Amino acid sequence: MKILAGKRGLIMGVANDHSIAYGIAQKCAEAGATLALTYQNDMLAKRVIPLAESLGSDLTLPCDVGAEGGIEEMAATLQKTWGQVDFVVHAIAFADKSELRGPYLNTSRDNFNNAMLISCYSMTELARAMLPMMEEKGGSMTTLTYLGANRITPNYNVMGVAKAALEASVRYLAVDLGKHNIRVNAISAGPVKTLAGAAISGARHVFRHSESQAPLKRNPDMDEVGRAGLYFASDLSSGVTGEVHYVDGGYHHIGVPTAETE
Ligand code: NAP
Repeated sequence: MKILAGKRGLIMGVANDHSIAYGIAQKCAEAGATLALTYQNDMLAKRVIPLAESLGSDLTLPCDVGAEGGIEEMAATLQKTWGQVDFVVHAIAFADKSELRGPYLNTSRDNFNNAMLISCYSMTELARAMLPMMEEKGGSMTTLTYLGANRITPNYNVMGVAKAALEASVRYLAVDLGKHNIRVNAISAGPVKTLAGAAISGARHVFRHSESQAPLKRNPDMDEVGRAGLYFASDLSSGVTGEVHYVDGGYHHIGVPTAETE
């Protein structure tokens, strides 16, 4: 019996077949889940619909999380179509590329607000919108974060601040939704080559450094992050909530690298 057989999951954040959300969606589809995918706007629908089909999904919905009412509208359509949802994956982040370089000090008010809205607040809004579809049976919500939330990584800037707030939101939401048996967790992935990852200035340096210093001597691949996503979507993690789970080859444990790896 496949572990997600009979389960329905909403996956947000598939931009292409290198997206972390796609890696998680693949593992969930292989485990028997029925999936719905969202896309930000009509231009991107062309990219996402074939990817949804490759996962056996015929449900794709528009959702720009930055637009007023965007999440509520998507959730209303999902409620009419499915009624009930077992798990949600939130793999969405955005900041102005021009400020993912140089000092954090120069972050503009508009970019700060927009990055927080899209990369952090959208998870809270989503949790509220999905609650009516999950409260009866319980379920799981998973978001994606990065080490830059609690340590300084070059040029991550406002995104690190947004991820810190996102991780705090995960803990607050875990308490609010725990009484409905809805679990809320985050996966902190090591560097993965994606569109969002490439927007950060000096991404190649971070990628190489993490690879060489991680105890496993590599960065995670999409399959590895995907399997962690499957763990959180499924009952395998039924006793886990409010957690930030690192899938980074152990990199976050390192304080001072051993001499021979410097
Ligand atoms: P990605 O493929 O570029 O995915 C980012 C997604 O965010 C895209 O699907 C993008 O949609 C979506 N998005 C941005 N603004 C949106 C909006 N207003 N409304 C709806 N969707 C919006 O990159 P990724 O690396 O897989 O990123 C997924 C998550 O993993 C992000 O939270 C990221 O911070 C996190 N993460 C990434 C890494 C890494 O190394 N790559 C490491 C740790 C954590 P469009 O393309 O349609 O705009």
